[in-house]
Amino acid sequence: MDKICVIPGDGVGPEVMEACLEVLDATGVRLEYVRARAGLACYERCGSYLPEETLEAARESRACLLGAVQSPSDLRGYRSPIVELRKALELYANLRPFRCYTGRCLRDLDIVLVRENTEGLYSGIERVEEDRAVTERVVTRKATERIVRFAFEYALKYNRGRVTCLHKANVLESDRFFREIFFRVAEGYRVEAGEELVDAAALHLITDPGRFDVLVTANLYGDILSDELAGLTGGLGFAPSASIGEEHAVFEPVHGAAPDIAGKGAANPAAMILSGAMMLDHLGYAEERERIEQAVEETCRAGVLTRDAGGRCGTEEFAAEVVRNLG
Ligand code: ATP
Repeated sequence: MDKICVIPGDGVGPEVMEACLEVLDATGVRLEYVRARAGLACYERCGSYLPEETLEAARESRACLLGAVQSPSDLRGYRSPIVELRKALELYANLRPFRCYTGRCLRDLDIVLVRENTEGLYSGIERVEEDRAVTERVVTRKATERIVRFAFEYALKYNRGRVTCLHKANVLESDRFFREIFFRVAEGYRVEAGEELVDAAALHLITDPGRFDVLVTANLYGDILSDELAGLTGGLGFAPSASIGEEHAVFEPVHGAAPDIAGKGAANPAAMILSGAMMLDHLGYAEERERIEQAVEETCRAGVLTRDAGGRCGTEEFAAEVVRNLG
């Protein structure tokens, strides 16, 4: 039985996590859950936002499921547990599939965003001087080759015809470097390789999303574009994600702890449920992933929707309907 480290976290995290586990169990896949703590509530209780025993549990599991953690920017000594977890487990690829489940999205697109997770403007090499602040944008050959390969391998595995590199190589030397490596790696794959300036892509995602299939890009660009893509496909409540490394993987919704609606049973659990489905696929249960995605789609299209999606049902009711639709 695969061991899964379950980190419910803060805010709506525990609520959407329960919904997700209910759906995963209903598929019939047997998993062993090891519960662990991280986030703001954990920090306030035990003085650590990512305790050593949580890291250990994550390292010893085949995958982690993470609800959401709150990261206040003004708390000294507190760093984002997600960023720390990604570093500790060397999760270099961030994978975010976007599609419309409700049939009522701004755009009916089907795009997978692959984002480099370890460097770029999030290199952490920064300094604040008296009259200026500097952040180094680091792009290494190793990390770029690794993420580009990941994108092409993904395209091959899931029969996706085109990988587009998003960059700003007309301005940034580091992006010229990224682009060159992209086209060199692309030569080894029988998948169409394209490119677009990231600002033009931000526009085309709205006006002509059909031109895109798999996107591969640097850390900050990916961070920004994934919120745009979530907005186009029904909002944060429907956006799942995976952070994947050579040995470990963490599956979590794109949204945060949403403290404004926490504890009310109102959160949309779709993003967490779909993240769980991605985890099943990662563990080798591709059919179960499809079953869950279909059940979520059926649920939404029948009008069973949470408030963020224009409906009236609660977190538990949505999950129960997904379980019913699993058959
Ligand atoms: P954080 O700092 O943890 O990212 P945040 O409030 O800035 O928190 P989110 O938690 O992603 O960012 O929430 C942004 C908005 O989207 C909030 O108004 C929240 O209520 C809404 N939201 C986020 N996730 C969900 C969800 N699963 N269901 C319904 N609404 C959600």
